[in-house]
Amino acid sequence: MTPSVDHGPGSEPPEHVWAVPGRPTRIVVDLDRIGGNLGYFRRTVTPGTAVMAVVKADGYGHGAVMVARAAVEAGAAQLAVATVDEGVVLRRHAVSVPILVLGPVDPLEVPRAAQNDLTLTLVDPQFVSVVAAAARTRRRREAWPVHVKIDSGMHRFGVDTRDALALFQRLDNHPELQVAGTFTHFADADGVYDAFTREQAERFLSAVGDVRREGFGTGLIHLSNSAAALRWRRLDHDMVRVGIALYGLSPGPDLLPADPIRPALSVWSRIARVTSLSEGDSVSYGRTYRAAGPESVGLVPIGYADGYARALSGIGTMRVQGQEAIVRGRVSMDQTVINLSPELGVQVGCQVEVISAGVSNPNSVARLAQNLGTIDYEIVTSLSQRIPRIYVKGRRVVAIQDLHGVSPVDEP
Ligand SMILES: *Cc1c(COP(=O)(O)O)cnc(C)c1O
Repeated sequence: MTPSVDHGPGSEPPEHVWAVPGRPTRIVVDLDRIGGNLGYFRRTVTPGTAVMAVVKADGYGHGAVMVARAAVEAGAAQLAVATVDEGVVLRRHAVSVPILVLGPVDPLEVPRAAQNDLTLTLVDPQFVSVVAAAARTRRRREAWPVHVKIDSGMHRFGVDTRDALALFQRLDNHPELQVAGTFTHFADADGVYDAFTREQAERFLSAVGDVRREGFGTGLIHLSNSAAALRWRRLDHDMVRVGIALYGLSPGPDLLPADPIRPALSVWSRIARVTSLSEGDSVSYGRTYRAAGPESVGLVPIGYADGYARALSGIGTMRVQGQEAIVRGRVSMDQTVINLSPELGVQVGCQVEVISAGVSNPNSVARLAQNLGTIDYEIVTSLSQRIPRIYVKGRRVVAIQDLHGVSPVDEP
């Protein structure tokens, strides 16, 4: 219907994505794009600034293990996760770069973090004692690296700027811990105005200055998330933490990623059944859609349990044979019905592009987020674990992540 939409390279999966056995509904992740997006930041940040790839929430729904490997291969110096479990999974898959756990951690999880060589974020003196005790149980001789998070205005997690110095004094009593980094997090780096970001940076850097003047080491200083790393070079410092832009997606509606940054994820399926409706026939639960005349509809085996939001009932669009196909009736748990133009002659088995890796297509992540009143982050992190992730590199399938784990795929 709208031929002007972006169908750039990668908007079709390579034919052999379908040769991988399994559920026809599948997520295709282009690892070259992950590498390319990481490479963009490596090239554009201030020389000497390291790039940390944020792979929390299973790599923003893309699958953390393969994304982590691609990011490290493309030059990510470190990785970040939100929970200890997420870090342990990466270690089990032989990821060896430093892994920072960004969020709060329960004291009961600290021993596992120690055994798996994860870097914890410290924000209060009680937790310092817990971490120091676990550090002594580590097999390694060297001090356990930790990062300190300073709250500069987000008021979510971090030590208050006024209490930062005392925390570093406390840490100084623990030779078994080594401060490898000190960071803060911006509340509005994707906003229209930069005043608050500037204020947060000033507060943070002033606290860091106080700590250093007292002779305490702060390790690597890092402030920026994707939005800040896309916009401000003077906030680079020692490292930037890139999440959403690594996946080629946007931190916010006011901030489109720069040109070479491209979405890596698309969702595909195959028509499972074709049905002919007559005037007055209804579709799906609640009979919210009724055919105005003869109509052909197709069944797509994806539903809200897969992360295809129920709010897309009657409004979502997919693409079949290059044409937009609107969702008919309610999205159900495992299945969704779409309209099919009769002239296309769509048959069972036809490929359906559920979510596009384009930017402006009606079924792109950005447009879905807009239609659902949310952000790109929520669209991709909602994609369920039960959809297999198929990893493509150089237009070859290299691995698959499904409910059974991650396995390499050897193609003929
Ligand atoms: C999630 C997160 C990031 C990454 O944010 P993006 O907007 O996805 O780049 C960086 N820092 C912290 C502390 C985070 O929690």
